[in-house]
Amino acid sequence: MILILTPNIQPENETYQQLMSHLARLPNIQVRVHIEKGIEQTLTELYLIGNTSAVSVEEMRALPGVERVVRVSEEYRVLGRHLDDQRPAYFDYQGLRFGQDSFHIFAGLCAVDNAQNVEFMMRALKEQGQVCTRMGAYKPRTSPYSFQGHGRTCLPFVFELAGKYGIRVIAMEITHESHIDEIQDALYQTGAPTGVMLQIGTRNTQNFELLKIVGRQQEFPVLLKRGFGITLDESLHAAEYLASEGNRKVVFGLRGIKSNLGDPHRNFVDFVHVPVVKRLTRMPVCIDPSHAVGARSSGPEGILDLLHATAQGVIAGANMVLVDFHPVPSRALVDGPQALLIEELPHFLEDVQIAREAYEKRSLLRTRYANQPSTQERDLVLT
Ligand code: PEP
Ligand code: MN
Repeated sequence: MILILTPNIQPENETYQQLMSHLARLPNIQVRVHIEKGIEQTLTELYLIGNTSAVSVEEMRALPGVERVVRVSEEYRVLGRHLDDQRPAYFDYQGLRFGQDSFHIFAGLCAVDNAQNVEFMMRALKEQGQVCTRMGAYKPRTSPYSFQGHGRTCLPFVFELAGKYGIRVIAMEITHESHIDEIQDALYQTGAPTGVMLQIGTRNTQNFELLKIVGRQQEFPVLLKRGFGITLDESLHAAEYLASEGNRKVVFGLRGIKSNLGDPHRNFVDFVHVPVVKRLTRMPVCIDPSHAVGARSSGPEGILDLLHATAQGVIAGANMVLVDFHPVPSRALVDGPQALLIEELPHFLEDVQIAREAYEKRSLLRTRYANQPSTQERDLVLT
């Protein structure tokens, strides 16, 4: 059960203290406090954990300092959607809103190779009015002999260039907790010219200790990718690890599932799960067509499979697209075969826009039909 307290309530406040001592007396119930600092107000939520079936919603709602009460189903307590749950389905970061209604494209390099390519990419993004990108510094590779990313050494020039070209958020995978400190240090050294969304890759979706550590910091939002060989439910529970530790600024990423049934694509494209994740949780949903499709093959009309897959996810309501580009894909150190060319960026963005507008039209259409009286109601009016 979640008690949502009156906005801006302070722990030193008498009402707050009375409420906490009352809750402390409830048998077999533990209270976990979560404070969410927003731009306009600070919200305090109390999670009652334990035998809450014996606690009545009305009784809790009547307590001083309590504004709303949500009885949660067992699944995804913090990030899930529950009955009468009006908690927001968005968060703000770097002046941008990430929610189930917003839409952002994170086009960029799978792996940073050199400053020149980073600059080439960022300049192209600025020319197209883009303010987000992806840049890999820490790369989890199948072979220990493959390029592992430049790590912290590339961070200062990546952040400086981001600042120069007005990039506000960089999605960057981390594979170890020490990378958070390295990112913080580099941002500090460079005067924080940009922001970072920490990415947990598909290989680490169930690295629970990493999830707990990433969840304990609230400075950076997190893009958690679906695990490639586990159920959707298991991946959503992984997201809940982040939130249960305190960080609920979580975007959930679909990137395909490992299965030969998806051949000839690199992974079996799973973007049909976009509305499923939005229904079950309050997380914005990202799609990664590059790692899902994994190649530059195209349909007979000449449209790349990668663009088709993107359109499928976007028309289904995806809130974010993570996509690989490279100035010279044949020379990319990681995932060249799936990279789009920088010259293809305007085409890609326009194609995505068509799908996004189609999604918006579909949502409006749905509203229009939902507001029409049903045949049964019409019959009642007529008789
Ligand atoms: C990536 O985005 O670069 C990546 C490695 O993705 P995934 O974890 O989905 O394989
Ligand atoms: Mn990659």
